[in-house]
Amino acid sequence: MSVQLFNTATRSLEPFKPLDPLGLQVKMYTCGPTVYNFAHIGNFRAYMFEDVLQRHLEARGFVVERVMNLTDVDDKTIAGCKSCGVPLGDFTAKFKAAFFEDLKALRIKPAAHYPAATAPEYIARMILMIENLQAQGIAYQAEDGSVYFRISKFPRYGQLAHLNLEELRPSGRIQNDEYEKEAIGDFALWKAWNANDGEVWWESPWGKGRPGWHIECSAMATALLGPELDIHCGGVDNIFPHHEAEIAQSECYTGRHFSRYWLHCAHLMVEGQKMAKSAGNFYTLRDLLEKGYTGREIRYVLLSVHYRLPLNFTLSGLDAARTALVRIDAWVERLRVLAGEKTVPAGATLPACERFLEALDDDLNISGALGHLFDWIRESNRAMDANEVSAEDAAKTLSDFAILNSILALEADKAAIPEAVQLLVEERQAAREARQWGRSDELRDALAALGWQVKDTKQGPQITRI
Ligand code: AMP
Ligand code: ZN
Repeated sequence: MSVQLFNTATRSLEPFKPLDPLGLQVKMYTCGPTVYNFAHIGNFRAYMFEDVLQRHLEARGFVVERVMNLTDVDDKTIAGCKSCGVPLGDFTAKFKAAFFEDLKALRIKPAAHYPAATAPEYIARMILMIENLQAQGIAYQAEDGSVYFRISKFPRYGQLAHLNLEELRPSGRIQNDEYEKEAIGDFALWKAWNANDGEVWWESPWGKGRPGWHIECSAMATALLGPELDIHCGGVDNIFPHHEAEIAQSECYTGRHFSRYWLHCAHLMVEGQKMAKSAGNFYTLRDLLEKGYTGREIRYVLLSVHYRLPLNFTLSGLDAARTALVRIDAWVERLRVLAGEKTVPAGATLPACERFLEALDDDLNISGALGHLFDWIRESNRAMDANEVSAEDAAKTLSDFAILNSILALEADKAAIPEAVQLLVEERQAAREARQWGRSDELRDALAALGWQVKDTKQGPQITRI
């Protein structure tokens, strides 16, 4: 089966075929964070699904070029820098750095490009695009000096979100607070400076001002990936108006079809509500790390639910992730001991590995894929218990697990002591303190079977690889 993806544009599953005539290169654009605060783990759900998507496509032989933008100018970043009394760039730099640290902790593969909206080359491109739209009669400057996109000039506006344009027309009941606009659905391309913006402004043909959020993404996406993308992603809240506006601006500017596939993840929820800064019901990654959870455990939780289903976040979900990872670690350790120095040439994958990959081919069916992984672990442990696994078999299983792990990125840190081993060491220490010497010896043997030697020292147990 080829990779099938659910395209929001058509509301259907479609075989994935990039524009590249060789069918290999994939141009992928992912809407990134607004850097006015630490990203919360709801944001990371979106970045995690994009990571799994990229990694799976790569496992299937595609070459993915991914762009993730940084929104470093908007109302929130401006309000933030003003309240801290620092220049915008200094204010956002702190949150950009934190964002990259968080991506690393979550093992999210770096994108090829992280363009920032305020970089001079992108601001110049946004202005160029708006000028072009104005020359075509698609953009107009209103009395307040801001420039708007005239949605009546783009009949397909509303198609991605399946919205009826008529619903966007002003009616007696809708208060149009941006009264300068011709129509309520028209959106800002360029926002004229006002006193709230303080020192934040750029010179433009329409006077001092700053770009609208939507044009930022259109400019950065087309600058880095060209006029036609293969995949554009975000959370469902991005569909309207953000992605709809991106399509309208980009297509009117380039005359080309902007993106072939639109993928959107459902929200991460807390007690039935979307996790959001504004709702105050959020955890940042840092909050969870401080509670003692690891980036790997949080990664597991974020990727373990199908991206189009809401993910209900709970701390007990993190505990369950810890248990699942202990199982994976213990299995991998056991295979390592059995395989010893044996290696096998890469070749056809085992059926268990193929089942995992095929589940992901089906619109990233991660629950199915993880189900196959745990079936595989159970079956393989049973075979090892029965001494039916040769060193070569173990090495082959490990080499196939490496393929899975290139997508999951859940393997224990090589340098670190696996949690499974750590737990056995703690249990053994408790048994020693309770003077249960028989139990303590059993646990020493269990550790040896996993390839770890324990030595009791005055400072406590010391563990080394055998
Ligand atoms: P923002 O910084 O608000 O522009 O959001 C950045 C990305 O995170 C966007 O793709 C949003 O759709 C996504 N996002 C925000 N909140 C959530 C949530 N609770 N669950 C999943 N994705 C979210
Ligand atoms: Zn965007």
